Amino acid sequence: MQEVNYRLSKFTKKGVSLITAKEPAASRPIVDIAPLSQVTVPLLSASGDSLRSAVKINQTVLQGDLLGLAEPGAGYPVYAPVSGLLVGFREIQHPLLGNVSCAVLNCTIAGSKYNKQDQRSVDKSADYIKLAQTMGIIDELDGMPLAKKLAQWKKINSVCLVADASEQEPYSSSAWSVLNESTAEVEKGLELISLAIQASSRHIAVMQPKANYKKLKSLIKNTDLLQVSGKYPAKLVSGAKNICRVGVQACLALYHAVEYNRPPCNVVVTVTGDAVTNAQNVRVPIGTLVDDVLHFCRLSPRPEYVIIGDAMTGNTINRTDIPIVPGITCIIALKACPRSSVHPCIGCGRCVSACHAGLLPYEIMRRLDNMQYERLASLLAEECDGCGACSYVCPSGLDVAAKVIEAKDAHGNIFLKWGNGDDI
Ligand code: SF4
Ligand code: SF4
Repeated sequence: MQEVNYRLSKFTKKGVSLITAKEPAASRPIVDIAPLSQVTVPLLSASGDSLRSAVKINQTVLQGDLLGLAEPGAGYPVYAPVSGLLVGFREIQHPLLGNVSCAVLNCTIAGSKYNKQDQRSVDKSADYIKLAQTMGIIDELDGMPLAKKLAQWKKINSVCLVADASEQEPYSSSAWSVLNESTAEVEKGLELISLAIQASSRHIAVMQPKANYKKLKSLIKNTDLLQVSGKYPAKLVSGAKNICRVGVQACLALYHAVEYNRPPCNVVVTVTGDAVTNAQNVRVPIGTLVDDVLHFCRLSPRPEYVIIGDAMTGNTINRTDIPIVPGITCIIALKACPRSSVHPCIGCGRCVSACHAGLLPYEIMRRLDNMQYERLASLLAEECDGCGACSYVCPSGLDVAAKVIEAKDAHGNIFLKWGNGDDI
């Protein structure tokens, strides 16, 4: 294998300047979606294991009842996000989860196992990692189980813990809205995480106009509030090592689990784009279909293009009858496809200038397309974080980031199988 690794300096100031399109959703209060007739809840543990249904067809459940059972001692259970009647199961090809079996609940029953009065006293010595697992809390930043992340972070010395509400991509404002609405609770949730992993410092990161930042600063009592700045993707804490990022909705979910013994049932999603009449942040039960959320926010014409996630890192979907799960915090519906034509690479190097990881995206793409896997190994595709900046700047309209991620995912698989590609 070639010894040299082709990467540019880690210290170059890279990234791209993005437009912001967060308004009007960002300034509006979070709205609860209107009562639904049905939800479709994936019975898949965040660890990737299928779950056994804890409920039989034609049985009723209350919000917060166990719905999907994990194997004892492993996996992450799923709870009923609404009260209702189990009417059947449905196989779905989900863009984030793959092929998954879902429980279909008709929302015919009112009520919940929980109410706000059920507050209990917080045991500071409790095992919050275990609790995050039994409650099946998923971190919305990356769709990973919170317990799994915390167990890994616990092994690291001097963790710099950051609740990341910086939302650096153009459209999302759900983290900001949740932080605004539940500032004290998010801060307490972060404090519990900090306790669980013995973090050496904890911060909340935002990227907000000065006035918003100042207002929030006056409300946050025991945590360092960071104002993130710079090109996308900007560093959250400059000079810090071992930065561990957690979502604000996951902090809130842990707080609710500890204070009220309540599993996560909802996700707050930014619904926006030029095909949406009423752009806003909506609180929806897990398992709500994208279709239902879009109609609640009033679609103008039928959108040509729907993205789950934000503009830089989201996925285009070609059907909207898929359920929302933690990990989907933004839905963008557009009247027309923003990128119409694709041309061959012209070798302009803009993707290289944009890559904050110091990689050579066009070269990785070329090696992958030419199946030069041995050469590819030295191009460090595994260091790509999927920020999408290379695709954003490409004048040929190429999805370079998708190619780099394909190379990253293939790392350790195909690289080992193939010989030296120098002759190609
Ligand atoms: S997606 Fe990967 S290769 Fe492209 S700019 Fe971001 S880190 Fe670099
Ligand atoms: S930005 Fe696009 S056209 Fe330019 S070198 Fe990179 S991949 Fe090629």
